[in-house]
Amino acid sequence: MTNFSMIVDVEKCTGCYACFLTCRDEYVGNDHLPYSIAQPAANSEFGQSWIRVVEEERGTFPKAKITYTPIMCQNCEDAPCIEAAENGAVFRREDGIVMIDPEKADGQKTIADSCPYGVIFWNEEKKVAQKCTFCSHLLDDGWKMPRCAEACPVEAILFGDLDDPDSAISQKRQAGRMEELNHEFGIKPTVAYVGLPKRFIAGEVVLSGDVEECAEGISVILAGDSGTLSTTTDAFGDFEFTGLTEGSDFTIEIDAPDRQNYSVDVRSDTDLNLGVIMLEPLAG
Ligand code: SF4
Ligand code: SF4
Ligand code: SF4
Repeated sequence: MTNFSMIVDVEKCTGCYACFLTCRDEYVGNDHLPYSIAQPAANSEFGQSWIRVVEEERGTFPKAKITYTPIMCQNCEDAPCIEAAENGAVFRREDGIVMIDPEKADGQKTIADSCPYGVIFWNEEKKVAQKCTFCSHLLDDGWKMPRCAEACPVEAILFGDLDDPDSAISQKRQAGRMEELNHEFGIKPTVAYVGLPKRFIAGEVVLSGDVEECAEGISVILAGDSGTLSTTTDAFGDFEFTGLTEGSDFTIEIDAPDRQNYSVDVRSDTDLNLGVIMLEPLAG
């Protein structure tokens, strides 16, 4: 059997939008029947993005990051789009790819409203729901991967057969660190992600005095319900804890020789830049 899917590596993605543009190049104005009808023109009222790159600005200057998360059809095992369709208009191919039959789906707007990932688009002009096809017309024509995967200059989109234990996608999955996008939807996406953005807490430690100095090599401890993490400030006095669960409570403690202890309670509802933390000399 074959079970095509993808792994999207957010840590590799640079937000170049090559995947987005190449997808439009393949589908805007081009019918690929019976797989798909043409996407409406990108600048039209009904323009669609079968792959979108979600840009997230995190933290505040100078501790800021930008994360790019490409999102296409997640090829779910418990796909509500299949459930929502009448006449088998949305179906799973033998190779695992979830497809919308443009002819059978005629007039079925409920299909477009059924996807919690928001990757199905309603073509008001043609009265049909449309989405990423995993470029199945190309795969059936002998292509080894969809156009977005081929276009990505940093190989952030890995396509392959999950049922082949020797495929690169299977090997990468076995290596771990896989996550589902919006696990809370509970519809078992087969597309997996690496490095989905988590919360981070960062700051800069300075030793106060007649001349302020960056506090290099100072131990910083972050304690929370799930355990304790520690790090050491770099040559600029900077520290950072990454990969933190959103909405968790932590205490940060900094203990430097001959300095007053610093302690603060924080909550990771968002990415936090604690700014400059001044360590005062011990009294006396
Ligand atoms: S991501 Fe949306 S369109 Fe794709 S299979 Fe899942 S529910 Fe259907
Ligand atoms: S797999 Fe094909 S249809 Fe889907 S997002 Fe990539 S280029 Fe577009
Ligand atoms: S082509 Fe690759 S690097 Fe560029 S936005 Fe798409 S996934 Fe990210």
